[in-house]
Amino acid sequence: MATCNICGGSEFEDFRGRPFEKCSTCGSLARHRVGWAVYGQELLGTKNAEGYVLHLAPEPWLFPKLKEELTSGYLCADPSPKTYPHAPCLKLYFPQDFSLFPDGYFTAILHNHVLEHIPGHYGDHLKEFTRLLAPGGKMIFSIPGPYKGQPTKEGGEHLATDAERLEQFLQEDHYRLFGDDFEPTMEALPDGVFWKDALTDEARAALSVRPRKAPFFIWQRDG
Ligand SMILES: [Zn+2]
Repeated sequence: MATCNICGGSEFEDFRGRPFEKCSTCGSLARHRVGWAVYGQELLGTKNAEGYVLHLAPEPWLFPKLKEELTSGYLCADPSPKTYPHAPCLKLYFPQDFSLFPDGYFTAILHNHVLEHIPGHYGDHLKEFTRLLAPGGKMIFSIPGPYKGQPTKEGGEHLATDAERLEQFLQEDHYRLFGDDFEPTMEALPDGVFWKDALTDEARAALSVRPRKAPFFIWQRDG
């Protein structure tokens, strides 16, 4: 029987056509449960958890748990802090606000389904995010897709209407669709290593997550 690692619940329901995706008790989705498992494996209890940790768009399922585990260096940010009343959010707009931070400022950067909301070129954003990581620091994140058999499509911010973005980018506020170049772009980032989360399909099943779904990506700056 699957159990939610956020709340301990054991009932799951379909969500947007995805079977047993949503925890009926706390409402967590697959990416929240996988995220918590991956943080447990890759971040919590490590030296990186003791420095400045930046969490973008801090989800209500993950914020309270991270707050309990991390130190006073745990920082949350979003362009629209009102969307996250449960968390003390800094108001940051990327890409403009990358320049606020010196090289190597953070020991970890966490973001889920954020990269598709940042206008511009995602390769530039990844260079900036990884620039902000201290030696040995990790970025742990997830994105929609990547979608196979097509290159990344960008430019949603230049469309005139939400309806056009919904049609071309699958959500009103998404500016890109990630494609086949995503992983090679990650691998080409200098001075670090890239890998996908190591949760097995069995571990996913125990969280009511289908095989290989909600992949988390990790990039670590060389130590
Ligand atoms: Zn739950």
